[in-house]
Amino acid sequence: MRQADPSPRKPRRQITLPGSGVVPGIAIGPIAFAAEPKLEITRQKIAAADIAAERRRLDEAVVRARQQLIKLRARLAHLPEESEGELGPLLDAHVHMLDKSRLMRAIYAAIEEKLVSATTAVLDVSEAQAASILQSPRAGTDDSGAAARQAEEVRELGRRLLRNLIHLPFRSFAGLPPGSLLVADALRPADAALIAPDHFAGIITEEGGDVGHTAVMLRAIGIPAVLGVNGLIGAAREGSLAVLDGTTGQITLNPGPRLLADAAQSRTRFASAQRGLARLRRLASTTADHLPIELQANIELPFELPMVVRSGASGVGLMRTEFLFMNRDSLPDEATQLAIYRDTIEAMDGDPVTIRLLDWGSDKEVEALVAAGLVPQTREENPALGLRGVRLLGDAPMVLETQLAAMLRAAVYGPVRILIPMVCRPREITLVRDAMDRVWHRLEAEHVRLPATKPPLGVMIETPAAVIAGATLARYADFFAIGTNDLTMYALAADRGLPARFGLYDALEPPVLRLIAMTVAAGDVAGIPVSLCGELASRPEAAPLLIGLGLRSLSMHGGAILRVKRVVRSVTLSRCEALAAAALGASEASTVHDLLDAYK
Ligand code: PEP
Ligand code: MG
Repeated sequence: MRQADPSPRKPRRQITLPGSGVVPGIAIGPIAFAAEPKLEITRQKIAAADIAAERRRLDEAVVRARQQLIKLRARLAHLPEESEGELGPLLDAHVHMLDKSRLMRAIYAAIEEKLVSATTAVLDVSEAQAASILQSPRAGTDDSGAAARQAEEVRELGRRLLRNLIHLPFRSFAGLPPGSLLVADALRPADAALIAPDHFAGIITEEGGDVGHTAVMLRAIGIPAVLGVNGLIGAAREGSLAVLDGTTGQITLNPGPRLLADAAQSRTRFASAQRGLARLRRLASTTADHLPIELQANIELPFELPMVVRSGASGVGLMRTEFLFMNRDSLPDEATQLAIYRDTIEAMDGDPVTIRLLDWGSDKEVEALVAAGLVPQTREENPALGLRGVRLLGDAPMVLETQLAAMLRAAVYGPVRILIPMVCRPREITLVRDAMDRVWHRLEAEHVRLPATKPPLGVMIETPAAVIAGATLARYADFFAIGTNDLTMYALAADRGLPARFGLYDALEPPVLRLIAMTVAAGDVAGIPVSLCGELASRPEAAPLLIGLGLRSLSMHGGAILRVKRVVRSVTLSRCEALAAAALGASEASTVHDLLDAYK
């Protein structure tokens, strides 16, 4: 969280910092820090029977608060020494207050004795204690400044607990100046979903890598963005000018006149190159030797639809449905989902739309499920390895069946394929197929209009287990969609949100390429279609390699389709296959990068 500017004496000299460019483009503008949204709390009484549950809710909020404070503490290392010296003890005091303090004892006691909700208890007790500190005899003496600070600390910790209790998105963006560069320490995918596409010139964060779900969201929004900029929060100043280059991944704070002039020129060049791509829209997506390569779009948020249609995508290879469940505290019903699926299907005008079942978990937090009590409030120790994707759907049949019903009803408006996330075992496919049969029969009995046949049911191949069991899974699934974002993470044991500078997460590592080749082979043997819809598909330089690995269908964010098409039209199958053979034989990703550079 960004609080008051901790360092009023930061130098204003030009500083360039590297990060991961996740959305190409140049942006110039003043810096605006992400602000916290307003807390709106309703006071509530509870029944005696609910005391234990409210105490548990508070326990979980305390655990989260402690994790957040420890993380903030670690980040202070990037600040100038005097700021670290000022802020460090404050954060330590907050952690200490969470452990044992009059404040926490009184909050727990209020739940039990006054029979109020955890939220009410935190609000009332922190306000009362802050007020009593301000009225203490000390407050009227020379020590009044210290008393005011102490009261503010109590309130600040109270606000942190309240945010965690009500799962309030951390950020609010609407009030920030239009045309500015949004700067944040970190953005959750749900925060990113709140950003209006035309509001900011660019987005920069200190945390995050180029394949995390936040990066995926930002590509959907299409604003130039650089994530994972080490030292950003310590060096940036609210309102001062900065330049962001989403192609190289560099940001420059306090740019001098020379750099500003160059950046303005690059921005014009980038815009005209984008316009130049438009002529490719109507041209076929075939290699120079006439091999058709299907280029489809990933859809993350509904407002991408017009851009996807303009991109000339031949269908939607992956419609993520997490957005339907984000930033809300109730589950979307069948009608709400149907309306959105139908809009997409109709917009694609006869081209297939692949809709994925909810992939909750890991870095994709979904408030509605927590609020509905379907998943625990506390994050799992290892969220990427826990209850996510189809595993959660197995535990939440209502969510699964509502979603399937909306998809089946939507399938009368055009061709639909249904995709299951995070599959490792055949029984996870049968679970969904059985649910689909049940829903189909129910809808038939209710005389709901349905398509002539059930939509194909496919699986994401995004775990090493799914690749290894490919031949078996192919007997249960109608198609495969390779998710290299997660496949890379699970194969290399490297979080997809890790900044690129660590060099641990790279979809071009030869073992990952071999997993892709194995999946293509398993699909070919079984005679089922295989596509690739991870972020790797969006990288134009990777297109020859993917074609060489045997892929004929790629799905990517809409903004990448024409750039990838330009490369596809320039390659020949034999050269692609030679490239893939060399990459598969390489021992490290760096060699694969060199091979791709040499191919250009
Ligand atoms: C993937 O894992 O590659 C994928 C496409 O799914 P997501 O990024 O939504 O996890
Ligand atoms: Mg995935």
